[in-house]
Amino acid sequence: MKKYNFNAGPSILPREVIENTAKQCLDFEGSGLSLMEMSHRAKNFQPVVDEAVALFKELLEIPEGYSVIFLGGGASLQFYMIPLNFLIKKAAYLNTGVWAKKAMKEAKLVGDVIELASSAEANYTYIPKDWTCPADVDYLHITTNNTIYGTEVRKEYDVNVPMIADMSSDIFSRPIDVSKYDAIYGGAQKNLAMAGVTFVIVKNDKLGLAPREIPTMLDYRTHVEKGSMFNTPPVVPIYCALETLRWLKANGGVAAMDKIARERGEIVYGEIDRNKLFRGTVAEEDRSLMNICFVMKDEYKELEKEFFDFATERGMVGLKGHRSVGGFRASCYNAMSIEGCNALVQCMKDFEAKH
Ligand SMILES: *Cc1c(COP(=O)(O)O)cnc(C)c1O
Repeated sequence: MKKYNFNAGPSILPREVIENTAKQCLDFEGSGLSLMEMSHRAKNFQPVVDEAVALFKELLEIPEGYSVIFLGGGASLQFYMIPLNFLIKKAAYLNTGVWAKKAMKEAKLVGDVIELASSAEANYTYIPKDWTCPADVDYLHITTNNTIYGTEVRKEYDVNVPMIADMSSDIFSRPIDVSKYDAIYGGAQKNLAMAGVTFVIVKNDKLGLAPREIPTMLDYRTHVEKGSMFNTPPVVPIYCALETLRWLKANGGVAAMDKIARERGEIVYGEIDRNKLFRGTVAEEDRSLMNICFVMKDEYKELEKEFFDFATERGMVGLKGHRSVGGFRASCYNAMSIEGCNALVQCMKDFEAKH
């Protein structure tokens, strides 16, 4: 049976990305060596990193003066590296969920942190809007897509300080104005590659300004200067990211991804709103196009497990909602087809007809 992968992360990748990466794992570009067993300093690996960086810059229209680096440690390590490198006096954080809170916790180890606003009291079912950012903070940190709750800031804020964003789960799903950010980071395993690599976009002239000694490995300058080759980078995940970047370019880039994301959203949210059994969990204007969260309406609560099994039998994978939200979460990253969304909708319709 055909499987439709709605996992939140690690998550769906285009089939050709998986096949091409698997092929290079057996024989890297005809060299007779596996991608897994060659040196990251080999002549034929440097072009992989170079092309990945070039495609990052091209696809996101990254202006001059920014570097793209690939690191280990996940987005979670960035929660600490960001303040270590960018926090001079104080920083503002928008608390939109567990990941934002974790980022804030690490920043507090480094300096003064202002929680600008929070939707914790409503279990993060909306993006706070009633705030103004003080002009004297070094940066405003935001989480553009809240993977767990299914809320998203699908635009650039108009603020008079630089922003820093965790874009782990919506990078390359829409055009962004990189010039508004001092840094953008994320784990690759949501929308870019297999797990194991973290991407960071940094504004070069903002590095080295923080008044503290930074451990070598946690200093962005180390990795910028060495082109992500200071120590051994995760070569297979980086190669996998390159394949996705090629796929993105061949499929119309971020503008095309934005368009199809909106189509997917209309299909799935449309059915959630129409179907008598289900309801969405977040404020309509903040609905994520990447992670679509929904539950059974109160009067049908007891059907939850039955729907999960019903959908699983029909090939839907990874629909279970995060434990802090419950219900269902259909993650619809770039590689999710309209066909996959239609299959989910059909499943919801059939289940409604049964009840
Ligand atoms: C998954 C996720 C993280 C954590 O990423 P790791 O790479 O596992 O550290 C952080 N932020 C967001 C928005 C996420 O979706």
